[in-house]
Amino acid sequence: MEAIRILSIENETHNVMHVRTEKPMGIIYSPGQAADVTVDMPKFENELRAFTFTSLPSDPFLEFFIKQYPDHHGVTEQIGQLKVGDSLLIGDVFGDIKYQGEGIFIAGGAGITPFISVLKYLDKNDNIGNNKLIFANNTSKDIIANEYFSKLLGENFINVLSQEEHEKYQHGFITKELIQTHVQNEETKFYLCGPPPMMDAVLGHLKELGIDESRIVKEAF
Ligand SMILES: Cc1cc2nc3c(=O)[nH]c(=O)nc-3n(C[C@H](O)[C@H](O)[C@H](O)COP(=O)(O)OP(=O)(O)OC[C@H]3O[C@@H](n4cnc5c(N)ncnc54)[C@H](O)[C@@H]3O)c2cc1C
Repeated sequence: MEAIRILSIENETHNVMHVRTEKPMGIIYSPGQAADVTVDMPKFENELRAFTFTSLPSDPFLEFFIKQYPDHHGVTEQIGQLKVGDSLLIGDVFGDIKYQGEGIFIAGGAGITPFISVLKYLDKNDNIGNNKLIFANNTSKDIIANEYFSKLLGENFINVLSQEEHEKYQHGFITKELIQTHVQNEETKFYLCGPPPMMDAVLGHLKELGIDESRIVKEAF
């Protein structure tokens, strides 16, 4: 594990922090990957949690969006107490999400994080194309990086809110019909990341739509 000093902490939403840290020499990751992270305190050194890099590999710093669960009394509650100048510990890099061609990104809540770096990377390379993002949240105040994705994707950014009626967004859960509307062709890839119940539901929809598993790239949070 290596200590990484916190350079900045901002509130991204009411319960998600945007944390920027130093980048250790030699750390290698690809957009979409995560690392084992914990707080640099003896009590937490064996409490590794996965957080996804939302920075680009070429950035001179590391960046994470970290959703807090104060009621778990775990690592994310502790990270919420940290200040600029404190340290996190970072370990192994891993993760199954990797860009494999144009498609539909489907995220739930903090499951958006791997898609932040993948879409940022495509943007940097002028390759955003017709990629689409369907983002499920409870309410509009839970939408991470709303402004960024609205500018980047325009009409290809589709928000679905389960607990709020909002004139700009769809209401309910992600449905099979919604996904079907956005499928372009037989090559369209499906990138999924979110909490297990959402993943199960969306995988069920994709199965019913006859999507072969080889077109699905996924990671559960
Ligand atoms: C590959 C991967 C990448 C990820 N990337 C990110 C990311 O970029 N950003 C992000 O925000 N999250 C991400 N996550 C999720 C993140 O790892 C977890 O949210 C985080 O581990 C929660 O840690 P915690 O210690 O606060 O709570 P937990 O580890 O969930 O809980 C600590 C303890 O609290 C208890 N507990 C568990 N659930 C509850 C509950 N519902 N109520 C009360 N007590 C409970 C348990 O005893 C548990 O041991 C990722 C997950 C994976 C697998």
